[in-house]
Amino acid sequence: MKIVVLDGYTENPGDLSWEELEKLGELTVYDRTPGDKIAERIGDAEAVYTNKTPITAETIAKCPSMKFIGVLATGYNVVDTAAAKEAGVIVTNIPTYGTDAVAQYAIALLLELCHHVGEHSECVRAGEWTNNQDWCFWKHPLVELAGKTFGVIGFGRIGQRTAKIAEALGMKVLAYDEYPKKELETENCKMASLDELLAQSDVISLHCPLFPSTQGIINKETISKMKDGVKIINTSRGPLIVEEDLREALECGKVSGAAADVVSTEPIRADNPLLGAKNMIITPHIAWAPKESRQRLMDIAVDNLRHYINKDAVNVVNK
Ligand code: NAD
Repeated sequence: MKIVVLDGYTENPGDLSWEELEKLGELTVYDRTPGDKIAERIGDAEAVYTNKTPITAETIAKCPSMKFIGVLATGYNVVDTAAAKEAGVIVTNIPTYGTDAVAQYAIALLLELCHHVGEHSECVRAGEWTNNQDWCFWKHPLVELAGKTFGVIGFGRIGQRTAKIAEALGMKVLAYDEYPKKELETENCKMASLDELLAQSDVISLHCPLFPSTQGIINKETISKMKDGVKIINTSRGPLIVEEDLREALECGKVSGAAADVVSTEPIRADNPLLGAKNMIITPHIAWAPKESRQRLMDIAVDNLRHYINKDAVNVVNK
């Protein structure tokens, strides 16, 4: 069987091995594939992996040998799953691989907003401490989290794990989910309506998927319902935030700090309104990317193909 990986670089920039996949067939791995080369590179391969390279209905029609598409991610919107189904092509995803990594990262962003470790380290390196008249100094207000309220929008796997870490920091948790999970409530963790969460949280962390119902959930109106000085963390998907509205709220201080690992268009466009906004931290979509988490993703991706070969496909998203 011919196997093609269209864009393997972000999953494996060289610190992992494709060896297990090689054992299942004749493997070709491309780091990246430009739009006009997708069908050509798939050619007569039966199994095709993609991370963010689109596989459209047109490509599916042009590649009749393709019978298995393995998405190297949880979100599979890069594949026209309906067209794949019609053509008898199985599409699989990786439902969970990075819960711990993303939760840890959301809290890393929060701690950075509270302490600005990176910036303080840089200014010490640049000599500011050496030349300072006092024995210590800080460049921003420093924030203690214990006793404050951590609002989670989307109380699924990552939201719950992030909330646990916030609780360990002494925070109270309020969680909003489309399907409230009363059974998960504890003394320090309560389900809430969206309006209650907006009104009471000192920190709001986004962990819901990007759906039409969640697109732009952080906007002028919802921000106006938040506490003055609230902090916002987004490790979920960029379009959950109306970026212009967040920029305005950062500039006027309504939001005292925000951190995003994801933005509306990735890579970030030079004219993204959040670039250069006051008290804004942006990182290049790396919450998922510790080696441990990518290894888990690789193992599940290989396992998905193994199951397909054994005719008991798992993690199929277009049944
Ligand atoms: P999950 O499916 O376990 O949890 C999502 C939760 O959101 C569910 O409880 C669901 O009921 C809830 N939800 C759905 N619609 C909602 C709505 N309209 N309002 C409120 N809540 C709603 O998913 P997960 O594994 O926790 O992942 C959450 C998100 O994290 C993913 O959708 C993805 O966008 C993002 N993610 C980001 C990275 C990264 O590298 N930054 C990596 C992995 C996942």
